Amino acid sequence: LLRAVGVRKRFGDTEVLRGIDLTVSKGKVVCLLGPSGAGKSTFLRCINHLETIDGGQVWVDGEPIGFRLRHGKLYELPEREVAKQRRHIGMVFQRFNLFAHRTVLENVAEGPVRVLGVATGDARREALALLDRVGLAHRADAYPGQLSGGQQQRVAIARSLAMRPKLMLFDEPTSALDPELVGEVLEVMRALAAEDMTMIVVTHEMGFAREVADEVVFMVDGAVVETGPPSQVLAAPRHERTRQFLARVL
Ligand code: ATP
Ligand code: MG
Repeated sequence: LLRAVGVRKRFGDTEVLRGIDLTVSKGKVVCLLGPSGAGKSTFLRCINHLETIDGGQVWVDGEPIGFRLRHGKLYELPEREVAKQRRHIGMVFQRFNLFAHRTVLENVAEGPVRVLGVATGDARREALALLDRVGLAHRADAYPGQLSGGQQQRVAIARSLAMRPKLMLFDEPTSALDPELVGEVLEVMRALAAEDMTMIVVTHEMGFAREVADEVVFMVDGAVVETGPPSQVLAAPRHERTRQFLARVL
């Protein structure tokens, strides 16, 4: 479903991504690990073209992101068209940035109505079903400020799902949360994975990576150092950098 080939990104003189390759099949969960500054967030942003890439290419479901393929050649797409491609890619960040002045239900239903042209009644029904999935149907009429961080993050996940994404990207979705709220968010993500959502998850939650990931990718300094099933990468890492990192986070 996702194929990234030789993705390069530089900020000024610094090469932040030095040729990242990643393939994720439909329904698989990949956990992206690595020390601060490794380029994990930048890579996620490159996948949905929130950052332009300086080299390589990202394909999602056969579509080259940021480009149109015509007669075997790639043509750059205008931002408006890239935004359309991006709709199929859900993204959940550390900070949940919900609309503070809209109810939980409105937050979830808004995208489908405004962007996908779904009828309001249908969108609200679907939003309620999604809120039920993340265990928050009973808070549909609350405002984000009335919810805990964990609940807000679950709403943010429901809001992403409302856009019917093919792929979900998570960038440290639990690292801004109080420890006792982490579990409920991971539980929602676990359920999503069990329903065969294709997911790329940047996380420091090793328990989640061990139990949920089909594949773990370990990145350092803009390059993939090691990749494999969690049973191998987490339990018996081959590379010194992976060992050092795991010694610190486990
Ligand atoms: P963390 O675990 O701290 O979130 P990360 O692996 O997500 O780290 P990135 O945020 O992708 O790392 O950053 C990779 C490198 O790129 C860092 O050295 C960072 O300073 C740099 N960087 C990221 N965004 C920008 C930007 N917009 N302009 C300049 N440099 C940037
Ligand atoms: Mg980051």
